[in-house]
Amino acid sequence: MGNYDLREKLAGRFGEKVATITIGSAGEMGYRSASIHVSEFGAGHPSRAAARGGLGAVMGSKGLKAIVVEKPTERFKVEYADEGKFRETCTLVNKVIAQGAQNDPFHNIGTISTIEVTGANGILPVDNFSGKLFPAYQEVGANKFLTNLATRGGKNKLACQPGCVVQCSNCYNDANGEYLTSGFEYETIALFGPNCHISDLDSIARMDRFCDDIGVDTIEAANAIAVAMEAGKLPWGDVDTTLALLSEMKEATEFGRILGDGCEAVGKHLGCKRIPVVKHQAMAGYEPRNTKGTGITYATSPMGADHTAGLTMGRAFDDAGRAAQAYASNKLQVAMCIADSMMCIFAFAHVVPVMPKLGEMMDAMYGGNYGFPRLAAMGVKTLLTERGYNKMAGMTDADDRLPEFFYKERSAATGSVFDINDYELEVLFDF
Ligand code: SF4
Repeated sequence: MGNYDLREKLAGRFGEKVATITIGSAGEMGYRSASIHVSEFGAGHPSRAAARGGLGAVMGSKGLKAIVVEKPTERFKVEYADEGKFRETCTLVNKVIAQGAQNDPFHNIGTISTIEVTGANGILPVDNFSGKLFPAYQEVGANKFLTNLATRGGKNKLACQPGCVVQCSNCYNDANGEYLTSGFEYETIALFGPNCHISDLDSIARMDRFCDDIGVDTIEAANAIAVAMEAGKLPWGDVDTTLALLSEMKEATEFGRILGDGCEAVGKHLGCKRIPVVKHQAMAGYEPRNTKGTGITYATSPMGADHTAGLTMGRAFDDAGRAAQAYASNKLQVAMCIADSMMCIFAFAHVVPVMPKLGEMMDAMYGGNYGFPRLAAMGVKTLLTERGYNKMAGMTDADDRLPEFFYKERSAATGSVFDINDYELEVLFDF
């Protein structure tokens, strides 16, 4: 059963106010790109995906289809070392985040606003990470999105979970004003869009909805389709065949099952040489030759090609030398380990001016003397523990590399190759 029908069934049985954590048929079938879907705050659509790493297949392998979280009859009582201090510091930090959010395009538009930056700077992946520009990028950009919301009745500035003051989420309607999808994000739009040479936002929204329903990672599925396009299985930009191939995952045809296992599986099956994966995981929506710090993160993150582990994109980094980009990747990977234990990384981005306050909040919560340096040390320890796990699982330095074509083929947009050498990657975590 798909996530949307399942959510409706569970809400019918347990009430609309429950939160649900579910898998679709991809998780049931154990596909390696299967995601876990959490109902969003408010409307309850099962559109917030714990998408990466095939977690849905883990639930599926345990025979676990859904977790239903009911509203408790009484509030959980948290034991604080110093509740007054915690509340005072928390209010201040929240105020700083809310102020920062006022000028944040993620709040004012949504993550789709990133298209304007990546599209103009050769960072938007185009035609299976070919390194080319996509002149029509604004067709899938912020203005198109906002116009469609205004004329069709969709919404942005939504919170996907209670308490979020950044509110970057959205609900996107079709041309008839009917709900189509929500949590419609940059990665999905970049990778099913220009990276598959598709420039119709509504078609990409249909792909997003399908992937949410069957329960697969859109980054993995879109990269797999782009690789299939490059291998000639379908023409570039072919929306109907893309949707038909995605349906094959549900029907569990031979190719559908391979597609469900993601980009690397499809690339190997079709004999493709340009497969954009690191540690078997497909790349997020940033061209690593033109944002090299992000490329360093893709290469060295214990998760594989994961933008949320330390996205360094921005002129301050991208125009700086290699050492500065390595430094930025290192620092951001530590910071993201801290953020992931505390709050959404989009909120964390605004905490920078009051970072030491996070240590004070930990003191007030648990007692003791955390201080920011101790938090930073926890971030370092997290990274080293994850890397230690990978090593025990048989990974070596050779797994901390980008696919060869990024080193050899010049990006047509900028002339750049990914020229961070092996030594620079290997010493990145010599803290
Ligand atoms: S900022 Fe984070 S928590 Fe808030 S709506 Fe966006 S994704 Fe959800």
